[in-house]
Amino acid sequence: MATVKDFSVEEKLTAVLALQKIDSKIDEIRTMKGELPMEVKDLEDEIEGLQTRITNIDAEINSINTFIEQKTNGKKEAQALIKKYEKQQDNVKNNREFEAINKEIEMQELEVRLNEKHIKDATFELRDRTNVQIKTQEKIKEVEEALKVKRVELEKISAETEIEEKALAEKSDEARSKVDPRLLTAYQRIRKSYRNGLAVVPIHRDSCGGCFNVIPPQRQSEIRQHKKIIVCEHCGRILVDSDMNDKVSIKKA
Ligand SMILES: [Zn+2]
Repeated sequence: MATVKDFSVEEKLTAVLALQKIDSKIDEIRTMKGELPMEVKDLEDEIEGLQTRITNIDAEINSINTFIEQKTNGKKEAQALIKKYEKQQDNVKNNREFEAINKEIEMQELEVRLNEKHIKDATFELRDRTNVQIKTQEKIKEVEEALKVKRVELEKISAETEIEEKALAEKSDEARSKVDPRLLTAYQRIRKSYRNGLAVVPIHRDSCGGCFNVIPPQRQSEIRQHKKIIVCEHCGRILVDSDMNDKVSIKKA
């Protein structure tokens, strides 16, 4: 087996490209998983918020019901008083006494109407609160459905990726050991400086696959020759031709 220093440029590029592909796959899995737990958490928080709203609405509905009960009792009491006064009117001795009782009756009639108005207003409010309650419950159901789907998705991905991630980590270690040390240092430095973790990129449509700047034909042909390692003059990423990019793939375990 050849030692590292005997490797040709083509072999060096192939090795670092293989490493990039494995690392990109690991990045991809992490990104995919990285968003799902957050999405699950967001939905859980949303449900919690909606449930708090339901609790508050329930309390409001209870207090409205109590209010209506009080006003209904008030109305009944006033109506009972009116009946009592009307009976008293049958036995009055004079007009003055009759008028005095009449005033009492009028007052109680006013009381009845006032209670009726309160009951009517509160009933409207009750209907409104009940509507909000129903809508909120529907919303909870909706979010719960979405949460269920996301949870299943996350569990599935976690189960699937656990094995894949482990296998890829091993492959990454193996691939890394085959990369020329100086090239590996460059690879790691470039990879760290870009959020998408791409340090080795193919030429795609005459452009750098990392920053999309056009690569002149002369430079493209140099890259294809594999005589030396060429980096993009705009972003500093290591460039490979698309043929090499197509040939190198992650080996199945
Ligand atoms: Zn570039």
